[in-house]
Parts: sequence; C-alpha cells; structure tokens
Amino acid sequence: MRGSSNSPLRLVLLGAPGAGKGTQSQLLCARLGIPHISTGDLLREAQHAGSRLGREASRYIDRGEFVPDDLITAVVDQRLRHSAPSTGFALDGFPRTLNQAKGLDTILSHKGVQLTGVLFYDCPEEELIRRLSGRWVCDGCGAIFHFEPEDPAVKQPCPVCGGRLYRREDDTPDSIRTRFKRFYESTQPLIEFYTRRGILLRVDAAGEVEEVYLRSLAALSISP
Ligand code: AMP
Repeated sequence: MRGSSNSPLRLVLLGAPGAGKGTQSQLLCARLGIPHISTGDLLREAQHAGSRLGREASRYIDRGEFVPDDLITAVVDQRLRHSAPSTGFALDGFPRTLNQAKGLDTILSHKGVQLTGVLFYDCPEEELIRRLSGRWVCDGCGAIFHFEPEDPAVKQPCPVCGGRLYRREDDTPDSIRTRFKRFYESTQPLIEFYTRRGILLRVDAAGEVEEVYLRSLAALSISP
C-alpha cells in the first residue's frame, strides 16, 4: 500500500452488490476518522430531496443501471473539491467503470494527491444474493442490517438510532440481476487496473461483519 502510517488514507472500496462495501466503509471511517463518501447514498439523498440530480438519477437507479459516467464523476468532483488535500476519504461505490477511474485520477491529480489503496471485497455470488434479499437500511443513520424472512425485528425501530428500517427499491430480483451484470461487465476490469498499479488489496468478504472488518484492517496493515 502507498503512503506512510501517518499520512491520511485515501481509499476506494470495490465489490459486487452485497459484498459489504457500505458496512465496511462505515466501520473503517469511524475507526480511521475519515469521511465516508458513498455515491449511492449521495444519489438517494438527491432522489429524496427531489433535486434535478435526483430526478435524473432515478431514471437509472431503480432499474439497477449505472448513472452516466459524466454525471457521477461531477458529483464526486463536487464532493471532493472543497476538502483539503490532507484529508483522507473512503469512496464507496465509485469508481465503477474505467472512465470513472480515469476521472478520479484527474480529480486527485488536481489536488496533488493519489489513492493510497483499493480494497476489493471478494464474495461468492450465492452469498451476495442471500445478503441482498435480506438487506434492510435505517432511514435515520444509514446502518445496514440483515434479517431472515419473517424476522419480527424488521418491524422494530433501528437498534442504533430508533429510525425506520426500509428495503432499498433496487433490491428487487430484476434490479439485482442487472446490477450483477453491470458489475461483471464494467467494474470487474477495475480490479486489473488497480492491480497493475500495485494498490489493490483483496479482502475475503465471506463471513461475519466483524471478521471481514478485521481482514480489512489487516489488509491496510492497521492493528485492530
Ligand atoms: P450503491 O448504493 O453503491 O449500490 O448504488 C446504488 C445505485 O446508484 C447503483 O445501482 C447505480 O444505479 C447508482 N450508482 C452509485 N454509484 C454509481 C457509480 N459510481 N456509477 C454509476 N452509477 C452509480
């Protein structure tokens, strides 16, 4: 991994839908004190606010399609533009295509910085489908939970903040199929791209959240 132990970490988290990027980035960002930048969350916030970006993004998100590269790269550019170069970050869900990865390089080079590492969460597809079909998200704090069908806990408030738990609109079988297809076609090539650059860190994403978190810290050479 690039950078010294006291320089800020500038991370990307890659993985198929359901691999745990969201959960792991929340844990890593809390531990490392760096901002969590999830492009999916930024787009969902824009959708809920009914902004122009949100309306444009809705045309793609609910079908499981990617929003256009230019649009999402501009969202990330805007989000990173005002942060100091010395601030680290964990990008969750961006880049997802080679074009976006090149866009990110340009954004970072304008700030005079580079990525420190790219965590790739590797998980068998049966496990990904199982996770997505039982995924619930809190509308208050964004915490992510997994419940088996019929578990009464889904009707309870969020155990972290008391918010309401909901199912994502794109966690439907049709949308999940499209999202996997897009991942294999467009995002998988990034694994090769960042491997060649010597910054890809592969994490076995099967198993419990805590185990995967410990593997993430180990990949980043950080003690638990
Ligand atoms: P996520 O929460 O990361 O699974 O993202 C939810 C949805 O937002 C995706 O299925 C896409 O429709 C859209 N999205 C988020 N990030 C990107 C991105 N980097 N490129 C294209 N579409 C994105």
